[in-house]
Amino acid sequence: MNIYDLVIKNAQIADPENQKIFHGNLAVENGKIASITSENIRGRKEIDAKSCIVCPGFIDIHAHIDGNMSYGELSLVQGITTTVGGNCGGGPTNLNKFFETQNKNGFPINQLQFIGHSFSLRYKVGIDNPYINATKTQIGEMKKLLEKEFANGAVGLSFGLEYAPGSSFEEVIALSKLASQYKKLISIHTRLKAPDDLESLKEAVKISEITGALVQVSHLVYQYGEGVMTEALGILDKARKNGVNIWADSGMYTSFATGITTSVFDEDHIKKFGWKFSDLYIASGKLKGKCLTKKLYDKMRQNDEDAVIICYTGVEEEIYEALLRDYVVLSSDTGPSPTGDIGEGHPQNCGTFPRFFKKMVREKKYLSLIDAIKKCTLIPANILGLKNKGRLSAGCDGDLVIFDIDTIEDKSDFLGKGRPDAYPNGVHYVIVNGHVVAEYGKIKKDILPGRAIKMN
Ligand SMILES: [Zn+2]
Repeated sequence: MNIYDLVIKNAQIADPENQKIFHGNLAVENGKIASITSENIRGRKEIDAKSCIVCPGFIDIHAHIDGNMSYGELSLVQGITTTVGGNCGGGPTNLNKFFETQNKNGFPINQLQFIGHSFSLRYKVGIDNPYINATKTQIGEMKKLLEKEFANGAVGLSFGLEYAPGSSFEEVIALSKLASQYKKLISIHTRLKAPDDLESLKEAVKISEITGALVQVSHLVYQYGEGVMTEALGILDKARKNGVNIWADSGMYTSFATGITTSVFDEDHIKKFGWKFSDLYIASGKLKGKCLTKKLYDKMRQNDEDAVIICYTGVEEEIYEALLRDYVVLSSDTGPSPTGDIGEGHPQNCGTFPRFFKKMVREKKYLSLIDAIKKCTLIPANILGLKNKGRLSAGCDGDLVIFDIDTIEDKSDFLGKGRPDAYPNGVHYVIVNGHVVAEYGKIKKDILPGRAIKMN
């Protein structure tokens, strides 16, 4: 009898490709799925799943972990086995070095990287004012850098247009054309000049229409979850019906987090969105937990470059409205706190995926379990071009999560209400490339099987 590296027995196996959940056993060998069977099989390590769900590890298509170990662990305990960094126009630019360092040191989960335009590439070519246009020469330089990083294995190009209002359409299209030429994905944090600025979403559609590139609209609820979601989804529905290759993602919260010095918190912008200082609270550093006041705002804009601010906004029902569309996948938008302290920042960093299953499957019954799993596995894998992830066939990567649909829930909360880094319940095992890395919320810190994956 064949003895496998790892066998998971007595499982409810959820296969998103075949849209089926069935009782069985699963074997992993050399980091890959080796067999799924109803027969009794043996392993050097055996896990009794106790009739819990076994499915492909979750893929988080929109995050900002970028090699930060502590925040990688907060993703891991949610069941995320692959995260995608470099979103919203930021993140590392020298990907050769990034991949090499990550793979030398190891990481709990797998990582893919975008190359960011609005902070990273613009900064590289000497643009330090987000309100100015890039010159023709600077666009040319950005194209060269981007081309190099595509060759180095970036999964795509990311825009954070709200953070760089000076980005001209010409600049955006020139880079997007290059992405299309290299068959790379483009993620777009839209320009959003006002809370109901649907033109910014039409711009994302246009980018895909003109260049033919595959476009992923980032954190849809943080952009359009303030009363215009129905119209926003209508724009995407229509574009998709016309053959535009456009997708989107959303988290499970309406309140977003971003840096205090970004253009999102320019006085003009705050006014346009109608936010009061009491809607904005400080989520990192010495002043964490406090609401902004005009005095604190002025002081922090000048001195406290990196503080994370959480903006209380949005309509909860619009989260569900968005995530019910087949083309909208789940994402966390996890972003490390500038101080590196995991007890800071947004509860999304540790709660998004468990909260999704708790709210949308168990409590509200908006989604069937297999459809919910598909949104966290197969669909993002297909968008990203990951042929060996997000599915359970023999030969696919041994990235797996075992969870209990009856108890899975987020425990993380906003500062003042709880801990943003509290581990979720109900995620029993997380397996990355065949290695058990988390077991009932305990991380095996000496096992770092995650790979930084070059996409070529
Ligand atoms: Zn963003």
